[in-house]
Amino acid sequence: MAKIAFITGVSGQDGSYLSELLLSEGYEVHGLLRHASSLQNLAHLLTDDRLKLHRGDIQDESALRRLVAEIRPTEIYHLAGQTNVARSFELPIETVHDVAIATLRLLEIVRHTAPAARLFHASSAEIFGNPAEQPQTETTPMRPINPYGCAKAFATQMTSVYRDSLALFACNGILYNHESPRRGENFVTRKIARAAARIARGLERELKLGNIEARRDWGAADDYARAMWMTLQQQAPGDYIIATGETHSVREFVDAAFAIVGLKADEYLKIDETLLRPSDPAQMVGDAAKIAREVGWKPAKKFGDVVQEMVAAELKLAGATP
Ligand code: GDP
Repeated sequence: MAKIAFITGVSGQDGSYLSELLLSEGYEVHGLLRHASSLQNLAHLLTDDRLKLHRGDIQDESALRRLVAEIRPTEIYHLAGQTNVARSFELPIETVHDVAIATLRLLEIVRHTAPAARLFHASSAEIFGNPAEQPQTETTPMRPINPYGCAKAFATQMTSVYRDSLALFACNGILYNHESPRRGENFVTRKIARAAARIARGLERELKLGNIEARRDWGAADDYARAMWMTLQQQAPGDYIIATGETHSVREFVDAAFAIVGLKADEYLKIDETLLRPSDPAQMVGDAAKIAREVGWKPAKKFGDVVQEMVAAELKLAGATP
């Protein structure tokens, strides 16, 4: 059977790593991206004519329905959406439309137009809010503490409903923070890696951050794209935590990044209170035992590898700056 994938949010960090993987596995890959999205993350794949890009809006129901009917995907990876937590406090309604309602709309389209397709929904650790237990598992209660987490909790639960009550092959991957040189610039790891490189090159003098005590479970985006794909190759659908099981503070990320460029972080780090969020989970760490057991996925890269890769990429970019 032909392997045809449809990825929403194809031009983002995860969409680009997933496209690479699926092309290497022999798929025809269709990707949806907004009219305004940059092709930077996909530039190295554009000569491959098995990658087919479709500009459009995840909110445009009739266009999306037509697209799914035309493509006839065997696998759908739903990655699109406003993914920035801080921004979700400023734009809660847009976030809910973009993350929650858009997922429900896609589930409806798949149910009626491509019911045999397998669907992966990129859920988030933010559904757990200030978690009831450490580490979190697939059965940890959802109790989100920001608009993004609320929208993701709705989308996650709906994906389960379409699987358990309406027989779709639908999976939630509950993704913990995952980083790479392609991470959006408003995420803290990219901001830190960039500042370390630019300060080392004499292009900047300080790094301003908000809550540096927050602890996150940081993995590598390419590892997590592999987990998404492996999840859909199983006999039966399910929900899976996708995490490393290790936790590090923002401060540890800063120290590790500055150490790579031979600088002491304390000399450049400033706390900017305006970057503090109305609420911020103190610690998130996932227990990925279920996906290891049932799917056979384990992360290949460690925290130190991720920091190293990101700082190296930023040093290259900073070096090219006049
Ligand atoms: P998130 O966990 O999905 O919200 O990913 P982020 O990379 O945006 O944030 C990770 C953690 O870094 C959160 O606890 C933030 O509060 C904290 N943080 C501290 N300073 C900053 C900053 O300047 N920008 C961002 N994005 N996060 C920051």
